Amino acid sequence: MNKTPNSNRIHISIFGKRNAGKSSLLNAIVGQDIAVVSKVKGTTTDPVKKAMEFIPLGPVLFIDTAGLDDAGQLGQKRVEKSMQTLQQTDFGIYVMDASCIDRESLEQAKRNFKRFNIHYLLVFNKIDSISDDKLKDIKENYPNSSFVSTYRNETILQLKNELISRVNKFAEEEHTMIGDIVPYNGKVIMVVPIDSEAPKGRIILPQVQLIRDCLDNGIKSYVTRDVELKDALVDLKDIDLVVTDSQAFKEVNKIVPSNINLTSFSILLSRVKGDLKEFIKGVYAVDKLDNESNILIAESCTHNSTCNDIGRIKIPRGLSKHTNKTFNIDVRAGNDFPKDISRYDLVIHCAGCMLNRKAMQTRLKLCRESSVPITNYGILLAYLNGILPRTIEIFKDKI
Ligand code: SF4
Repeated sequence: MNKTPNSNRIHISIFGKRNAGKSSLLNAIVGQDIAVVSKVKGTTTDPVKKAMEFIPLGPVLFIDTAGLDDAGQLGQKRVEKSMQTLQQTDFGIYVMDASCIDRESLEQAKRNFKRFNIHYLLVFNKIDSISDDKLKDIKENYPNSSFVSTYRNETILQLKNELISRVNKFAEEEHTMIGDIVPYNGKVIMVVPIDSEAPKGRIILPQVQLIRDCLDNGIKSYVTRDVELKDALVDLKDIDLVVTDSQAFKEVNKIVPSNINLTSFSILLSRVKGDLKEFIKGVYAVDKLDNESNILIAESCTHNSTCNDIGRIKIPRGLSKHTNKTFNIDVRAGNDFPKDISRYDLVIHCAGCMLNRKAMQTRLKLCRESSVPITNYGILLAYLNGILPRTIEIFKDKI
């Protein structure tokens, strides 16, 4: 893996009405023709993404969205996609055509930004199309905004500097997976089963991220399959933590001596992306479920399912076995998280390695607003295997 995954990039999204010049602005900022530009209203359909190194901010993902005033049946679907983009946005840019100011749309956008706790920059575009007096007027009425023309390089440079300073101000500090629970020079064994579920020729993102996190924090990491774990524990002394794929909890729990801490990749990620405490609280809702309770299983990426699929087969089977009940289960993947989740009795989320922290935080917020408990795969599997206390022991001072 030689580039930062999108889930670890700051998401900067561009919103505004059709023909406000959002796509030309994105092209001007990144210095490439990424988004198709035309005078025809509604040229941008699906969100257009451009990952780049935005020095000195670091890795960012720019997202150009369809106009928020798009009309018709298809247009409504595009607006919905733009609204979904809001849920993963760390910082918003609201673009307005300086020659066509629409206060009502701006107020609506402000409400949306507020709802999803997004800091934003208001950008007046196409200032080359208005008189100096009109520009002066707008500047007085909208201080703290940026004023640009994609034909004037110096205005784009000013915008970039403003963007860097604002995003820097509001950027969240980076979260470590393991650096605050294992000491410098500590030892971690990672258990990576190579079974039918394992992707061919590579290891998956949470495992890659944990190796990198160990390197960043001066922690020694050793990777083994479950079948060699017993030998690895003989070879290595003074292990601080064993981290396994949650699906191998049962076997790994038997192999790892009780004096060594054990957790999973999914539980580690639940802390980085979501809220471990809330996920632990949510898992106890399992025992309050009734026959025919509604459960949402949410995964953040789309993949083909196999006969051993964790979300579609293993978790539903484990839940029924544990409770002796049958449930109505919906599985949603990618960005397809339901707008209204109030009809669910429990949400079970994957580790969310492909989701940025903001998107997971928004999903938690939606659950809180509807009083729906939420947990994650790793915590649920630990609970169903009767080893939850052991797998969260290492976090006892952090939650
Ligand atoms: S299902 Fe979730 S945890 Fe698994 S790979 Fe996809 S995003 Fe990552």
